[in-house]
Amino acid sequence: MRLHWHRRDLRVTDNPALSGDDRFLPVFVHDPTILAYGAPPVVSFLLDALDSLREQYRERGGELLLARGDPSAVLPDLAAACDADAVTWNRDYSGLASERDRAVAAALTDAGVSVGVERFGGTLLHEPESITTNDGGHHSVFSDFWEEWRNQEKADPVAAPVRGDVVDPRNSLDEECLAEDSGAAGSLPSLADLGFDEPEADVQPAGTDAAHDLLADFREDTIYRYGDDREYPARESTSRLSPHLKFGTVGVRTVWKATEDAAAAASDEDARESIEAFRRRLAWREFYAHVLDARPDVVTENYREYPDEIQWRDDPEGLQAWKDGETGYPLVDAGMRQLRTEAWVHNRVRMVAASFLTKDLLIDWREGYDWYRQKLVDHDTAHAAGGWQWAASTGPNAQPYFRVLDPTIQSEKYDPDGEYVREHVPELRDTPTDAIHEWPTLDAEKRAAIAPDYPEPIVDLGEHRERAIAAFEAARGDG
Ligand SMILES: Cc1cc2nc3c(=O)[nH]c(=O)nc-3n(C[C@H](O)[C@H](O)[C@H](O)COP(=O)(O)OP(=O)(O)OC[C@H]3O[C@@H](n4cnc5c(N)ncnc54)[C@H](O)[C@@H]3O)c2cc1C
Repeated sequence: MRLHWHRRDLRVTDNPALSGDDRFLPVFVHDPTILAYGAPPVVSFLLDALDSLREQYRERGGELLLARGDPSAVLPDLAAACDADAVTWNRDYSGLASERDRAVAAALTDAGVSVGVERFGGTLLHEPESITTNDGGHHSVFSDFWEEWRNQEKADPVAAPVRGDVVDPRNSLDEECLAEDSGAAGSLPSLADLGFDEPEADVQPAGTDAAHDLLADFREDTIYRYGDDREYPARESTSRLSPHLKFGTVGVRTVWKATEDAAAAASDEDARESIEAFRRRLAWREFYAHVLDARPDVVTENYREYPDEIQWRDDPEGLQAWKDGETGYPLVDAGMRQLRTEAWVHNRVRMVAASFLTKDLLIDWREGYDWYRQKLVDHDTAHAAGGWQWAASTGPNAQPYFRVLDPTIQSEKYDPDGEYVREHVPELRDTPTDAIHEWPTLDAEKRAAIAPDYPEPIVDLGEHRERAIAAFEAARGDG
């Protein structure tokens, strides 16, 4: 009998590590080292997902063990108490996760337990070793990665374990396995037990059923307009699967299979192109995971070095206005407020808000990364580092340093009716659409007459764009 250690694979269906013939006992360990990087929205989603996972095991006559502590101490003890001769897990890619895996593997080997570690890849369609450049390194150009990723065959989802595959520790194992000191007898902790406040936002439901409902709706309908609509935040045309893919409440093979089913039912070329646009996003997800695997420091360090340091500004007031959605740039503020109320933000608006922070305010991308980490339900080190370093022109395949997204043009282009802004910025609810787009360039008297409660722009766009470009040119040595 083996223990299966769940981490970010909180599902029984389409979980390659659960598909073997041998019986297993599932366990999740609340690890204080990982929790130190947590925040209310993600931990709240995690607890909801664990509740759902436990239910899925109970329906199969088993039980999810819930332990707390350092996994390299908890897992060998638990394996011994439950008489398990192996421990398995699905691979994860951050530096912290890899370090932890090495420590746990070493502790288990010391304790005489054999370990299946690298055998399972339940998070990505293609592991980092399977898509490399000619010299065996990771890709830093997305188009090259995409070509290879797209051409490789994708595995089908694997079936869920059935009753009998899952060990019921209450009936078949020694009481010691469930004893308090094995660390696994615990019930599901609350947010407060883990040291977190309730999230400020209304966090979307977790669990496999919620994920499958979202995927079914997307596959039936929205995926066919994803190609045209995905950049428009008011159109609600994206899948909202990001926290589910982060925590593995849905398997990526299942998502890929849904795209194949949608393609089989597609009526025309436009529909097929739309599905392809969505698949490209799944590839971005894997591109950044491969980058993180190769360069774990990408979470804290610029991926791309400039000869001199970029002189980021220390601007606490600007940073606070950005966090509060009070910059006087309606699209940026709408995104920052959506973050607070929904713990999720549309990708286009994340790009605009991140560009505004790193270019218009010239504030270090790590400040933005950290705020998003605290507020997003889908915070994922790989994609967060990828997105932030893209905006800051320091990442792989990043936007060029001289490209500064103009929030007024972005607003006009992607929120043409001002619908998204009006939804999230009540002070502008009765403001004419043109005035929403042009707000930062209107004269102050006009602004005061139209929406007296909405802030004045905190920066002048043209001037600050020049300042950002000059700072990057200085860092490049061109200044
Ligand atoms: C500054 C910044 C920070 C970001 N931080 C995160 C983060 O912490 N976690 C996160 O999951 N995504 C992050 N993203 C990427 C993207 O914004 C979200 O994945 C997307 O908005 C999630 O919504 P969705 O599930 O409806 O996406 P869909 O459009 O339905 O896409 C499907 C899936 O593809 C993946 N995906 C889509 N776009 C990207 C992308 N640009 N990069 C990587 N994966 C992508 C996600 O897993 C997503 O769920 C960030 C982007 C930026 C610009």
